[in-house]
Amino acid sequence: MSKDYYKILGITEFESQEAIKNAYRKMARKWHPDVAGNSEEAVLKFKEINEAYEILSNKIKKEEYDRARRFYSYATSKDNKFEKKTKQEDKKGFSFNSFKWKKAQDCPIPKRGENIYTDVELSVVEAVTGVTKTVNMLQTQICPKCGGRKFIKGNICTSCKGKGEFTSYKKFTVKIPAGIKDNSKIRLAGEGSNGINGGQNGDLYITIHIQEPKTYKTDGLNILKTIPVTPHEAVLGADIRISTIKGNVVVKIAPNTQNGQKIRLAGCGIVQNNKVGDMIVTIEIKIPQQLSNEEINLYKKLAEISTVNIRDTLYEN
Ligand SMILES: [Zn+2]
Repeated sequence: MSKDYYKILGITEFESQEAIKNAYRKMARKWHPDVAGNSEEAVLKFKEINEAYEILSNKIKKEEYDRARRFYSYATSKDNKFEKKTKQEDKKGFSFNSFKWKKAQDCPIPKRGENIYTDVELSVVEAVTGVTKTVNMLQTQICPKCGGRKFIKGNICTSCKGKGEFTSYKKFTVKIPAGIKDNSKIRLAGEGSNGINGGQNGDLYITIHIQEPKTYKTDGLNILKTIPVTPHEAVLGADIRISTIKGNVVVKIAPNTQNGQKIRLAGCGIVQNNKVGDMIVTIEIKIPQQLSNEEINLYKKLAEISTVNIRDTLYEN
């Protein structure tokens, strides 16, 4: 028995799997080549830590290891002959690892790759008309060479440099169908993380988020917009500029336009396939926040000369 894996991880034999995992993470962080450097000592230590975790995190391997460890400590304390023999084996390069795990490595268990989840933001127009989006996402794949074990026959895997996985950006082109609803999910089968040992790939799930536009609402292909006009524009009529998806257009407001009156701008809505919606403008009569003294005086004059009571119809008597 060449190595005490418990000692390597700084724990006792009776720790939980959670504690073993935590101890491993702590040690692996400390001795990772990115942190501890590539000195012979650091590399060896990192290798030992991973070897220890590979054994202790696997129920079957751990049981066998514990049995062998107990037997070894029994033998060294009680039976000098056995100790001698074991020590000789040590010198010849007896390795618990290579000796025991043949079976486990010959029959690797296929493991399905993990699902990956991401989000895509769409404008309302994109959601209505459908769009093709490129999603660039960070993906972690288990190293295909070492299968995530980080070591191959006791040596650091040259492919992943002992990380056990690769992290890279992968681009996906996603066709988003017309009329998609907010919070819909699109599943791209097999585009998740790679499966291990012949296991299936995971899936990629994309959640759609439709951004609420600040200046308009939509109703099918129609765009609904509220446009403020001043009292004098409403009374006298005016030419007002409105931005549409076709660019700015000048719209005539008729004299004596009422609050809530609607104007339809044909063909200024959303375009989808061969169909096009309209823009429906709702007039909102609004008093400017800042009025000059001169304007206030004119309103005073208006109040003096006005003879119409527009609330007449509201009174019963
Ligand atoms: Zn590898």
